This record gives sequence, C-alpha cells and structure tokens, in this order.
Amino acid sequence: MILVFGSLNMDLALSVERLPKPGETVLGPSYVLTPGGKGANQAVAAARAGAETRMIGTIGDDEFGRMALASLQRQGVDVGGIGKGTKPTGCAAILVSPQAENQIGVASGANLEAKGDNVHNDRLGPGSTVLMQMEVPEAEVWALAKRAKARGARVVLNLAPVRPVPPASLKDLDVLICNEHEASVLITSLGAPAGRDPNQMIGALAKALGLTFVITLGAKGAIAATPTEVWMVDALQIKPVDTTGAGDAFCGAFTAALDRRTPIQGALERANVAGALACMALGAQEALPRRQTIEEKLLS
Ligand code: ADP
Repeated sequence: MILVFGSLNMDLALSVERLPKPGETVLGPSYVLTPGGKGANQAVAAARAGAETRMIGTIGDDEFGRMALASLQRQGVDVGGIGKGTKPTGCAAILVSPQAENQIGVASGANLEAKGDNVHNDRLGPGSTVLMQMEVPEAEVWALAKRAKARGARVVLNLAPVRPVPPASLKDLDVLICNEHEASVLITSLGAPAGRDPNQMIGALAKALGLTFVITLGAKGAIAATPTEVWMVDALQIKPVDTTGAGDAFCGAFTAALDRRTPIQGALERANVAGALACMALGAQEALPRRQTIEEKLLS
C-alpha cells in the first residue's frame, strides 16, 4: 500500500494573452478550477497506476476542501487520513500564456497544518511505501521519514519544491526523485561545486547517499541510479499539450511500480511513459494515465 503524505490544493488556471509585468493587469477569456497539489496529484497518479493508495493531509472546512476530497474519492484514493484544519484549503493561482509558459502563486493554507502523525504506526511496515513531497511542513516530512524507515516501510521523497535535506535525514530515504533544477540545488547544498552536472554524478551520489536517486529530465527522459547501477530512458516522442503534472505522474507511477516490487529499470520505464502521457491533456489530475494504458504504451 502507498501512503501519500502531502498537499491538497484547488488550482485556478487562467489562459491569458501574455504573462503580466508587475503592476499590470492582463485579460483572458475564461478559467478552469481543478484539483491539484503535488500530494493529491501523486496520490491519483499512484492509484491510476494500479496501487492501493491512501492520502494523508489537511484541507480547510470550505468548498475547495470538499471539491479536493471528492475528486480523490472519485479516483479511488482512500481519503480516511485527510483531516480538516483551521486555515482555508490550499489554492494555486496559475496564469498560462499561449506559449504554455506559466506563472504560479500558491497559498499553502491548511497544508501548513498537515501532521505526519496522522500516518499511524499500524500502517507502517515492510509492506508499505510512504511517498512525500515538500509542500507540507519540512519538519513533519523528516519526522515521518524517520519513523517510517524505522518501522521497515519504503520511503520515497520527491524533493519538490526543492529544500535543503538535513544530512541526518538522508539515511531515512530509500528513493529520492528530483527534476534537473532540484538535483542541481541539492548537490550544491551537499557541497558539490556550483555548476556540476548532476546527471554525470548520479551514480556517485546514489553510492555516497546510500539510496536510489532518480532525476527527471523533461523532454530528455529520466535517469536512475542505485549505489551499484545506473539506468537511462529516453522520453517518448510527443507533442505536449500541457506539461503541468508530468513530474507528479512520474512520481506516482514510479512509486506504484516499486510498491508491487517491480525492479528499478521497469519502474523507470513505466514512470517515463506516465510522465509523457500526462503531457497529452490539460490539467494535472485529469491527464494522469491508468496502468493498462501505461503497459500498452510500453509494448507498442
Ligand atoms: P517536472 O514536471 O517535475 O519538472 P519533468 O519536466 O522532468 O518534471 O517531467 C517528468 C517526466 O515526464 C520526464 O522525466 C519525462 O518522463 C516526462 N516528460 C516531461 N516532459 C516531456 C516531454 N516534453 N516529452 C516526453 N516526456 C516528457
């Protein structure tokens, strides 16, 4: 079973003629309101990729919270670990230009009240996988990683948005997933000279940190390393419609594959397909592919 501890938001996305400068107002014809948040997106991605998935997080006592919850339920995610805080449900305001560039502001709201303690000990054990991101308080993430690891669960962290990882917490992680930017910031914070290419160092990093390190490379695919092996996959050749949620699709599908004991290479291939398919439709959660679609695409 996958236990996702993370954020739940509502995303308000507006298509505008161009991105505004400070102080400027730009007009757009319409907007869409969709469920988002890296935690919720990755929970849906894992559930669609075939894993039994439970989400643990915090929403507000408001309409956005009810919408976020209902959406997860529709996708077959167990929402029993989602509580109500005193702040409003998290909300992202997204402006998208005709060139698909975006500007995003996120009000964390109730995500700031998320508590790792709501992942109870009886659910943490050798058969469970904890999947986390960095949109909830850092201290909660590191504490849950420590407790989950001590109880024999697999711990997967998507370091997004990027934050320094306390060196003592690295030993609590089994898998660390970053995009290229996050990987660069991480290796600099760990003492590598600025400007070093993390892709060149991935094998050495996995060995030094004693974990599986995955770097997503957008339209170039992805690379993964354990302390002893390195794998690379090329991205699928596609014409992306909207790349929002590609990283979340990747993390959810990768973790779902690991949870059913797929070896790293197979997990990487499936996550790479899921990431590409998520770029083929608008919106973060609606575009996430199902396991059968991922498997069919792998064989084609
Ligand atoms: P993030 O959204 O976190 O920045 P990436 O942009 O690296 O993450 O995308 C995550 C994964 O999604 C990539 O590793 C790749 O598998 C897939 N992907 C992203 N963009 C494309 C693209 N343009 N073409 C094909 N696959 C893509």
